[in-house]
Amino acid sequence: MSKKIIIAIDGHSSTGKSTVARQLAKKLRYIYVDTGAMYRAVTLYAMRKCFIDENRFNKEALERFLPFIHIKFEVNSKTGLAEVFLNNENVEKTIRKLAVSNFVSQIAAFSQVRKKLVEQQQLMGKDKGIVMDGRDIGTVVFPDAELKVFMTATAKDRAERRYKELLERGEDVTYEDVLKNVVDRDHIDSTRKDSPLRKAEDAVVIDNSNLTLEEQFDQILTLAREVISKKS
Ligand code: C5P
Repeated sequence: MSKKIIIAIDGHSSTGKSTVARQLAKKLRYIYVDTGAMYRAVTLYAMRKCFIDENRFNKEALERFLPFIHIKFEVNSKTGLAEVFLNNENVEKTIRKLAVSNFVSQIAAFSQVRKKLVEQQQLMGKDKGIVMDGRDIGTVVFPDAELKVFMTATAKDRAERRYKELLERGEDVTYEDVLKNVVDRDHIDSTRKDSPLRKAEDAVVIDNSNLTLEEQFDQILTLAREVISKKS
């Protein structure tokens, strides 16, 4: 039997990391973990408790309530896809809204939140056989991951894709708002003190501005198979 590895997929916002990570996990029969969903779920919690809004972020209150935030993934038996639960409520759809995206990077820059979620992520990957996507997977969560991919594309390409996605989900948003969110999030994510978004030295860069989903998937699957065959 082939040895299982950890595949870390990091990169800028809306680069299609989760799509390719999910496909890859399905193909390899690995577990897929969308770590962005975990930060989004904490953000939703903080928004509902009014710990964060346009004017302020009450870090002390969020820190006090962190022990009461329980995040888990469950596979939807109809779609076969993992969905995220916040304190037993399925929040998979709500956390994708632009309103949540607009606060998530501030929440994710808070070290206490990162500490809690990184611990949970490391536990999820302890038996390997996992594809995890995020911003710090190859640098902080699994610095020894056997395969690290760093995905990027131009901000315009990424915003166009995300805009289409949000429209398809029935959200009333403008392209300009989506572009601003993508650019702002990248800025906050790359300049924060704790675990900033950066390419791990040993990560393979994939710029998918001019790649189809199939081409990108094929490239990453080939890389994964090479690494797995060397391990076995
Ligand atoms: O991947 P997604 O766009 O859903 O992530 C939402 C946000 O969560 C990112 O913009 C980033 O601020 C934060 N995040 C993070 N570290 C991760 C995954 C996501 O800081 N590993």
